[in-house]
Amino acid sequence: MSTAKSIEPCLVFADQAGNIYDHPDLLMLCRRGNELTLPRPDELIPLPEDSEFFLLPGRSALGLDPETGRVEELGEADELAVAVFASPAHTLSASAAYQTRPGAPILPLFAYGAVGFFEGRFYVCARRVDQDRRQEFGHIPRERIENGARRLLADLPKNRLIRHLTGCALTYGCPAAKNLALGRFEAPLPTSRVCNARCVGCISLQPEESGFPATQNRIAFKPTDREIVEVMARHQAKERRPIYSFGQGCEGEPLTEAALIAAAVSTFRKKGGTGTVNVNTNASLPGTLPALKEAGVDSIRVSLNSVRKEPYEAYYRPNGYRFEDVMESIRVAKGLGMFVSLNLLYFPGVTDCENEWDALSALVEDTKLDYIQLRNLNLDPELAMELLGGFDHGPCMGLANFMKRLKKASPHLGFGYFNPYLEPGGRGGAGE
Ligand code: SF4
Repeated sequence: MSTAKSIEPCLVFADQAGNIYDHPDLLMLCRRGNELTLPRPDELIPLPEDSEFFLLPGRSALGLDPETGRVEELGEADELAVAVFASPAHTLSASAAYQTRPGAPILPLFAYGAVGFFEGRFYVCARRVDQDRRQEFGHIPRERIENGARRLLADLPKNRLIRHLTGCALTYGCPAAKNLALGRFEAPLPTSRVCNARCVGCISLQPEESGFPATQNRIAFKPTDREIVEVMARHQAKERRPIYSFGQGCEGEPLTEAALIAAAVSTFRKKGGTGTVNVNTNASLPGTLPALKEAGVDSIRVSLNSVRKEPYEAYYRPNGYRFEDVMESIRVAKGLGMFVSLNLLYFPGVTDCENEWDALSALVEDTKLDYIQLRNLNLDPELAMELLGGFDHGPCMGLANFMKRLKKASPHLGFGYFNPYLEPGGRGGAGE
């Protein structure tokens, strides 16, 4: 009989100055969709290193009184709700539980995980879905990143892409650009200034009226194929298992620049270029994929919040393409022998529900797509529910069951958080 002590975190809240307190009586609650619940025992993990705490302006913390079974709101002006942004490689299985007060601002583009406190440490509702450590920088002195950026600028002084990416590394702290400066893992290759989608949570372009800012600026120029090949060759010289990724947070849709990408990759390959060439994309233009494959692109990562038409179009707001084109891209890419990942923008209480699971499992079986990267949907949870709450999602099963059942239905399927390195001629996926 297992005697493992059950973890029952108590509620945490903060004052206006950002000091965090644990509540003496109330238990931590979490939210999946519109449902408030106690955390499931299988979803609580100690708060991962490099995670960030968020103070939620104009929001009251909600906790459970174990004596009465009632949900209690900490309504004092100086008592605010707290959430966490879990460090990369972790998927949040539940959102923070809070009550929004009148006049509260929309929350910026992050994911807001549920957090509690138990026996001296913080616990979060999340799961590590990738053992890869490419976005862990806590042990790397900033100086090493600065030196790496300086060497890149010295080696390729006229390359605008290098100037852009070293700026991203040192100014915005972009993990992909930092890895390029360090000469490790995955090199970012932004190319496009435009996009044919208008995602509600677009991180590179937000209309004034949205009420929250984009988290980074879009690239302001179109690199040449020569500049791209220089960056790829430089990264190959440093990293034994290099990955190169078109489609970064600081750009629009890379398939709108498919001809440029094909020209660059073809040149790189003809010069003996090795490693995994990947395109992170909204997969809106299936017709561009044969030329990309021909040029030497190995994999695509298809970003979507849902594999059902209505919830997808409510979030992506396609402009000149349809949901069916995205599905067609997955089929075409698999038909061409490419490695296909989904960049699934996971939202607890919507993604992990029966109707989404049914559609996703059918798509995986039908297309034999290879991998699902479980990324957190970075959007104010209440805005997400306004957008997606009206669709019929069916009962919620939780992240652990969601993954277990998918794996059981499709044993070939891999899970992770990052683009895997593909062994020449083989499969990839450090994941889970
Ligand atoms: S597909 Fe990417 S660039 Fe385009 S709107 Fe969506 S998040 Fe923005």
